[in-house]
Amino acid sequence: MTDKMVQLSIHEKLDRLANNLWWSWDPEVTDVFRLIDPELWEKVNHNPVLLLNEYPPVRLEERAREAVLHTRIHWSYRRFIEYLEAKTTWGSTHAGILGQGPVAYFSAEFGLHESLPIYSGGLGVLAGDHLKSASDLGLPLVGIGLFYHEGYFTQALDAGGWQQESYPRLEAISLPLREASNDNGPVIISVDTRRGPIHARVLHLAVGRINLYLLDTDIAANHEDDRRLTGRLYGGDQRTRIRQELLLGVGGMKALKALGILPNVIHMNEGHSAFAPLEVIRERMQEDGLPFDRALRETASRCAFTTHTPVPAGHDRFDQGLIEEHLGPLGDAIGLNIDGIMGLGRVDPQNGGESFCMTVLALKLCRIANGVSSLHGVVSRDMWAGLWPWRSVEEIPIGHITNGVHVPSWLAGQMRVLYNRVLPENWYQRTGEPDVWTSFESISPGELWEVHSTLKNRLINYARHHAVEQATRRGESESIIADMEQLFDPQALTIGFARRFAPYKRADLILKDLEFLGKLITDSERPLQFIFAGKAHPADERGKQILQHIFQLTRKPPFRGRVLILENYTIEMGRVLVQGVDVWLNNPRRPLEASGTSGQKVVLNGGLNCSILDGWWAEAYDGQNGFAIGTGRTHWNQDVQDARDSEDLYRVLTKEVIPLFYNRDRDDLPQEWIARMKRAIRTLGWRFNADRMVMDYATYSYVPAAGGLSCSIVSMP
Ligand SMILES: *Cc1c(COP(=O)(O)O)cnc(C)c1O
Repeated sequence: MTDKMVQLSIHEKLDRLANNLWWSWDPEVTDVFRLIDPELWEKVNHNPVLLLNEYPPVRLEERAREAVLHTRIHWSYRRFIEYLEAKTTWGSTHAGILGQGPVAYFSAEFGLHESLPIYSGGLGVLAGDHLKSASDLGLPLVGIGLFYHEGYFTQALDAGGWQQESYPRLEAISLPLREASNDNGPVIISVDTRRGPIHARVLHLAVGRINLYLLDTDIAANHEDDRRLTGRLYGGDQRTRIRQELLLGVGGMKALKALGILPNVIHMNEGHSAFAPLEVIRERMQEDGLPFDRALRETASRCAFTTHTPVPAGHDRFDQGLIEEHLGPLGDAIGLNIDGIMGLGRVDPQNGGESFCMTVLALKLCRIANGVSSLHGVVSRDMWAGLWPWRSVEEIPIGHITNGVHVPSWLAGQMRVLYNRVLPENWYQRTGEPDVWTSFESISPGELWEVHSTLKNRLINYARHHAVEQATRRGESESIIADMEQLFDPQALTIGFARRFAPYKRADLILKDLEFLGKLITDSERPLQFIFAGKAHPADERGKQILQHIFQLTRKPPFRGRVLILENYTIEMGRVLVQGVDVWLNNPRRPLEASGTSGQKVVLNGGLNCSILDGWWAEAYDGQNGFAIGTGRTHWNQDVQDARDSEDLYRVLTKEVIPLFYNRDRDDLPQEWIARMKRAIRTLGWRFNADRMVMDYATYSYVPAAGGLSCSIVSMP
């Protein structure tokens, strides 16, 4: 190994580092790329493959010498190889059975990095964090998804505040993607439909030790329409949707087979991939001669399913025509006619009026199922009780594993320095252990506040910079643009709200009483300021109206200069926001937020959550590690609920949040506030991180499924 390493040139080493996303969660390697050319680094959207494309080897060699980067590059590469080749990992000691065949983790979206915009929100970022933690833990797992050439959309607001969508094309060549091949060359798979096959090539992305395979239909073998099939994430009509899902589930299984990968466990992250087990059933019947019932039973015992959607309308449903067109051939192969197939996607197989639901299919084809927070487990058991009419609701076999975030991806560099000093050595390899976090208590309040203030200043500068850019693009007057340069007061209590603009998240809850809000914002002693960001789904008129409403407020006094919408929310913007805010506001209509994860990112960086007791916060809040809106009660009437929640939001702000933030000691430190920051990190950091989450999946889902067992789901933590 060492000999080979010595022989590689600087350029080759950088090239290898750039072609594995591991660099993105290793701050030292990220720094190396940035230092090569800080300006270009911003211009290429933090994409080292593009950065290196701009640098001929000779020039790079020069640049490395100028910036004294040689040692750091060699050192980074050495650590990279050590990371990849580590023999003893958590996975090898706790999930050895997966050594016989990995977990195949299916997801329609993966949010790994801003340069690869194939995610729309929390579901994708969760999948990305899952892969990264699986890599850090050394868990045998492969990811399967789709490569969307136009990704999710890029957002801009026009002069009237209406959302405009554009779709810049992604080129595989400027990303760390390679065509996956086997002994016969590049792998091409095809999936049959009644109207002919859909073909796809397979792209490979290295995520640390994890391989992610992304299917891509933009190849010559396909008709023009199908070439565009993997164009956009969540774009197009129902037919596009079912074809994408057919490709993900059935095509994904075929791709693994073509690559010689035989998974021991199939994990469906949300129902989009629920066709995958049908392909396994087909194979077991045709290749091992099993009868359908037995093939189904054995397949289901190795399948795990995670549901993410407590909103009934959020579950994919297809009518019989689309199912017949796309699953007809597979049905023929496994001896099911259309009624038989439809029955698999219906709560009541005999009910001809029921459409085909992907969640129902997933639940029928798996033996381990979970929601993504304790409360979401309760909601899901209730929601799907009809599938097990002979059981009481407590016995419905859907458990929960609460979501978590990948610490190295979301922790600010300056905060990491603090962690390094007070937490035990190698803390970042043991973030799932409570003991590791207890020593955070010993940090000095002044020091923690100083780091937080630095990060907050960075956020404000970032916001100003983007506000100027946005205003310039909209052709605003010089005076408005000049205002944007002075936007915000670094001393003022800064509240962030950023997430998808789905109406149930109620971005406008705080706007219920504008007069009162205006007073809070302009209070001369204790002012507030707000930063909003988030995309509405292109077909979501209501979400766009909410955006527009907020936009219009940002134009007029008293909100102007104190409320801002940052356009085009991405992982990068998310990082700056969660690392810099004082307070993270989250006010979904309970219980519709299955988990939520952005607030967990805030915790790690010292921000405080002010949230409805929904999703993860319902099990996280202890009275002193943040703030709660409401008491966890829900009213059947939505309007009453909204009115109640907005009132309580104002109460929490005026009675708790604002007084605590502005209560300063002689050194101008908000001692009680800082105590809450510390308590949040100490009590929440170890539980709501992705290492703990992936370890739970291994223990309660993957290892039992790999043994062909189904554990008692309800006893999940
Ligand atoms: C973490 C994250 C989300 C999830 O946000 P929630 O508040 O959990 O809905 C969405 N988008 C991006 C870019 C994120 O980083």
